[in-house]
Amino acid sequence: MTESLPKSQLLIVDDHPENILLLMESVDEDCAVLVAKDGEKALEQAFRHRPDLILLDVMMPGMDGFEVCSILKADERTKQIPIIFITAMRDADAEEKGLKLGAIDFIRKPINPGVTQVRIRNHLNLQRKTGLLEALSLLDGLTEIHNRRWLDEALTREWMRARRSGSPLSLAILDIDHFKDYNDTYGHAQGDQCLIRVARRLRAGLKRHSDRVARYGGEEFVILAPDTPEDAAFHLVETLVEAVAGLGIPHETSPVADCVTISAGVASTVPNEHECGIDLLKRADAALYQAKSAGRHRVLRSS
Ligand code: GH3
Ligand code: MG
Ligand code: MG
Repeated sequence: MTESLPKSQLLIVDDHPENILLLMESVDEDCAVLVAKDGEKALEQAFRHRPDLILLDVMMPGMDGFEVCSILKADERTKQIPIIFITAMRDADAEEKGLKLGAIDFIRKPINPGVTQVRIRNHLNLQRKTGLLEALSLLDGLTEIHNRRWLDEALTREWMRARRSGSPLSLAILDIDHFKDYNDTYGHAQGDQCLIRVARRLRAGLKRHSDRVARYGGEEFVILAPDTPEDAAFHLVETLVEAVAGLGIPHETSPVADCVTISAGVASTVPNEHECGIDLLKRADAALYQAKSAGRHRVLRSS
């Protein structure tokens, strides 16, 4: 483990303080520990802090461990968190029930700190790797901005959020002009460098934390701007189109300019039941097509 990795966070849930102390002995020093003495507090801590691993006592007064596990596994925010049950029970039925509820492992009382330490370490390592893989699966390998899979998920998420709140959602598709000619002139490797520079310039040019950019395809990018009406989105994309030209990446075979330029189509809506996110993409794509036909290096809005 290197210094730069964030600390893992562990939640220990047990109604007996002596068990909590015993379990804390099994936790490596580079791990932050949260504690809860009953089911309600456990849920509160889990939702607030989203720990990397939960050690959960089965038998507690009030809400028992099985119930806590069911609630956490049914919630989008917490269902990925691995849960290890801690139990004095010996019967296989209880173990089967816990595993079927989604627990990843069982640790038996009396607690053996050495064995428990290794198990906690193994599960935290696995969780860290899973998290890393998930994050990588949403990034574009070349430009290191979000990829199309991320965009598909984000668009669905933002569409639903905007529908609930009644706020406008804007989206733009941006495409590099005459990029095939760029590759033919300067070579594919130089083309890749151009894509990286354009992607980073787009990301740097976003105005709000909620504005996001993804690489949608080869030389196509999508900007997703929640809570943004059409005029504001149009203005944002205009500044991005100029920012990319402002990079001054030479493109001597482009009929549009002597440097790399992009064209864009913008579409906005207040989401309703008659449309979906894909419709917004289609409208932005149609506007992009118009922008290309009208001479490139410009933004148009969907009609
Ligand atoms: P237009 O102005 O109409 O958009 O023309 P264009 O040449 O940009 O569009 P076209 O769709 O004809 O060509 C896109 C080019 O983008 C072709 C393809 O080789 C290139 N491309 C797609 N992905 C990559 C990539 O990852 N790296 C590089 N270097 N080139 C790519
Ligand atoms: Mg193109
Ligand atoms: Mg294209």
